[in-house]
Amino acid sequence: MTVTESSSKKQTEDMAKIIENWLGNPVIRKLLKFTTKRTGNERRLDKILKSYAFDKDVNLSFGDRLTEKIVMKIVGSVVDRTSITEEDVKSNLQIGYWRKGLVSTLEGIAWRGPEKPFTSYAPFLVVWNFTNACNLSCKHCYQSSGKKPTSDELTTEEKMKALDEMADAGVAYISISGGEPLFMKDVFEVGKKIAEKDMGFAIATNGTMLTKETAQKLKDSGCCYVQISLDGTRKTHDEFRGFFGAFDKTVQGIRNSVNTGLLTEVSMTVTKDNLNEVGDIIDLTEELGASTFMHYNFIPSGRGKDIIDKDLSPEEREELLNFLAEECDKRDMSVLSTAPQFSRIMASGEYASSSLTHFDSISQQEGMGNETRFLAEFVGGCGGGRLYCGLEPNGDIIPCVFLPKVLGNIKEDDFLEVWKDSEFMEDMRNRRRYDEGCGGCDYRSICGGCRARAYAYYGDVQVSDPGCIINKRKWESLKEEIGEKQFITLVKT
Ligand code: SF4
Ligand code: SF4
Repeated sequence: MTVTESSSKKQTEDMAKIIENWLGNPVIRKLLKFTTKRTGNERRLDKILKSYAFDKDVNLSFGDRLTEKIVMKIVGSVVDRTSITEEDVKSNLQIGYWRKGLVSTLEGIAWRGPEKPFTSYAPFLVVWNFTNACNLSCKHCYQSSGKKPTSDELTTEEKMKALDEMADAGVAYISISGGEPLFMKDVFEVGKKIAEKDMGFAIATNGTMLTKETAQKLKDSGCCYVQISLDGTRKTHDEFRGFFGAFDKTVQGIRNSVNTGLLTEVSMTVTKDNLNEVGDIIDLTEELGASTFMHYNFIPSGRGKDIIDKDLSPEEREELLNFLAEECDKRDMSVLSTAPQFSRIMASGEYASSSLTHFDSISQQEGMGNETRFLAEFVGGCGGGRLYCGLEPNGDIIPCVFLPKVLGNIKEDDFLEVWKDSEFMEDMRNRRRYDEGCGGCDYRSICGGCRARAYAYYGDVQVSDPGCIINKRKWESLKEEIGEKQFITLVKT
């Protein structure tokens, strides 16, 4: 462990201790309620923290001044009782998405009280399926993308309005996905506005259109993270993607992204067809200089339903996740998985690393002390409907891009109200209501199971995730009871 890693681990543990104390203290929660009060679209706490981070004088009301005093007391106690310095606090608060994420966490605690895992007041992350158009035709596409945008997609003007609404709600990070977002001319303009609104801007692309110029344009618009999909070695990737030559173009796209200085993640959707190539793609990811390898847990949604028979068995998934955990310990880059069971495996104590949630590559810390375990339970594995949601090309709001249940539309409904009041999302959040597998599991708070998988197989988000080894009877009985062929047909409908 390097000195920086060691001090980062210490800071995480210190911060976990403080949050744990806060959660148990009713006076602190009352103060949080006061400091996180919103007036219209203005979030008092965000204003105060921003002015503190940049040493700026702003016009403050009496209530703001009181909040400022409370915030300064809290910062003082964090600095006194932990290894975190005032400079650390200020430099993190200067990052817009970090500050917004903190505010949303505190607002979430004030809103719902002490909960493990917690729910943020506004989504930390929105994955925005920007268009249904794509230049490829991938077998597992959750969006069932076609060659052209569909007629109901948001216009540029509507996209800008949607952005204003998400920024006002307090969203910290937006990841533009697809279809293929680089197909759309307005992606840079929209990306620039995301960054101007102090939110993090990431993009998920198939990489085939990511020339040096495009990578530079992304960087200039404020993009801080590029996720590029690579589903195997040349032959496998080209077959998956339905386009001969896709592999070479994608690898060049990864090179262009890395050489432009963009933080780059290589993501691989793993099925029975490419399971034996995972090691090769991790090697290639490291060789290309990307910062993260991400295993995408295949979920049979969209066109993925057509290849449901390629889904991994619970045993295959368990073996894969353990392999990834070993790789994570060995490599100088992040090795992560979108399968929430990865947090359970990392919490087992068998590995030196831990992973708190699948969409945050920064949150890998060495060791799993009590405080880190508390943090893992607080952050909580599956973030669908709790820390994150999806937005469709036509403005439909969904709890996760792999779970296409429409809960509202950003053109007609209040985004924050949909997030806070949706009963469907509440069913996802309340893990005590899950059935006996995930509901009674010791890792319920750390993992929670993939709700999109439960929905894809049972049409019910409170059923246990049949992809987990702990629930393997569920997987077997699905097939036993219905029969393999009918089972596949049933799930496709
Ligand atoms: S039983 Fe459910 S909560 Fe427990 S580890 Fe498996 S998927 Fe996660
Ligand atoms: S439902 Fe949860 S675990 Fe599954 S893909 Fe969505 S966020 Fe990830």
